[in-house]
Amino acid sequence: MISAQDSATAALQFDNLIGGTFVRASSGEEDEVLNPATGDVIARVPRAGLADLDLAVEAGRKAFERWSRTTPRERSILLLRLADALEERIEEFAAIESLDVGKTMAQARGEVEEAVDIFRFFAGVARNLGGVAAGDYRENYTSMLRREPLGVVGLISAWNFPLMIAAFKIAPALGAGNVVVFKPSEITPLSTLKFAQLASEIFPPGVVNVLTGLGSLGAGIAGHRGISMVSFTGGSETGRNVARAAAGNLKRVSMELGGNAPVIVLDDADVDALVARLRFVSFVNSGQACTAACRVIAQEGVFEKVLEALVPTIESIRVGDPASGPEIEMGPLVSAAHQQRVLGYLGRTRGEILTGGGAIGDKGFFVQPTLVAGLDQRDEMVQDEIFGPVVTVQRVSSPEQAITYANDVKYGLSGSIWTRDIGRAMSAVQRLDFGQVWVNDHLSSVPEMPNGGFKDSGYGTDSSAYGLEEYTRMKHVWIAVN
Ligand code: NAD
Repeated sequence: MISAQDSATAALQFDNLIGGTFVRASSGEEDEVLNPATGDVIARVPRAGLADLDLAVEAGRKAFERWSRTTPRERSILLLRLADALEERIEEFAAIESLDVGKTMAQARGEVEEAVDIFRFFAGVARNLGGVAAGDYRENYTSMLRREPLGVVGLISAWNFPLMIAAFKIAPALGAGNVVVFKPSEITPLSTLKFAQLASEIFPPGVVNVLTGLGSLGAGIAGHRGISMVSFTGGSETGRNVARAAAGNLKRVSMELGGNAPVIVLDDADVDALVARLRFVSFVNSGQACTAACRVIAQEGVFEKVLEALVPTIESIRVGDPASGPEIEMGPLVSAAHQQRVLGYLGRTRGEILTGGGAIGDKGFFVQPTLVAGLDQRDEMVQDEIFGPVVTVQRVSSPEQAITYANDVKYGLSGSIWTRDIGRAMSAVQRLDFGQVWVNDHLSSVPEMPNGGFKDSGYGTDSSAYGLEEYTRMKHVWIAVN
């Protein structure tokens, strides 16, 4: 009998894509990829190094000469073709993503569908870039603006939404006329390698290059003088290292970094709607989402009611190996190291664990959905990005204090406010220091709108038409008219 694992990984090409050819690492080194639900090895992938990176950059520079002169229409058609090819394989991609990251199939399917939509969206944006019209700003002169691609763009990604992040980086970069060297996370590289197979059938050689490897490869990309821009998704500390390395040739940098999103609940909030939404937005992907709702800050009039509803709701989440059936709602954490990191917070806490708090089973990297109360604002569980199925709840006396607590962390990625009072909501929206704020919702996103962060959550965005603009440079052309 063929297991879910065998059928998802069967016949997969796990080599890297450089200049249109699938290759091993020149050193011959490999890394193992694990199924986080069982701890079993499911694949071996090349550990590319700096020599492989040089080859990919060289292949990219060669391809750029022709690719940068294609019309938006030509690039758009290929992006649409890619979207169609991906759409035909939603189940295959979802299976590999589920196996590699530990996502439920339903979630993985949704993410592949979203990746398809992202390619279609940027296929449209590529043909529709805005800007000022040419103008005569000085007598006898006309000024006009050209938007140009940058060259070889380095894309470095995190492990939590591998295919979606790849789509969010590759689609705008290619749409703008750049070529790419993409490095997925060493922990979850499989869907990207599968994606490379599709890309190699659609784009000219060297336009899409995919290298798997460790952080040192990412550092190589950030520092490479043949690369014009680096777009990074990952942790804030790594982001700082990327920015430092990128300073060498002053390459452009875009940073989608960590977050620990607050959820402000005012006394007049619809608690049933809130709790129903938190069941999903705090625990989706086992809480390993940069925008996951992880810090509930509830006003005292509603605090007890929120707790009473939240504890049984969290306890009703069905946790297990996503391969065991569609009834599973939450899988494992991505790695043993990450599981230990999250359990470390729970072991050290002086707060009150209202439900959960431990590992599950003796195989795979599971952590119980957990709720912790009684924490001080300076507590590490409030201040840090825990990045697991852990929600903290704090009690505040006023909307004012809620906003102060929400902003009093180093991150500024996203947050939400729950109230029926639109004036209060808008007042909070003005003062919340986050790149994305929801009112009576959390986590929803669309490719039409940006999703970037402030403060330690970085700068720049991959999403939206603004995202595509980041992969371009502006040239002012000044013409004397006689
Ligand atoms: P990470 O920072 O450990 O690794 C991210 C990538 O950087 C990996 O590919 C890794 O190999 C590479 N890397 C490691 N060291 C490097 C270096 N010195 N130079 C260049 N690259 C290097 O992050 P992670 O653990 O993979 O992902 C989790 C983090 O990503 C969380 O903080 C999460 O919030 C964040 N994230 C943010 C967004 C967003 O849109 N803002 C989305 C997803 C994840």
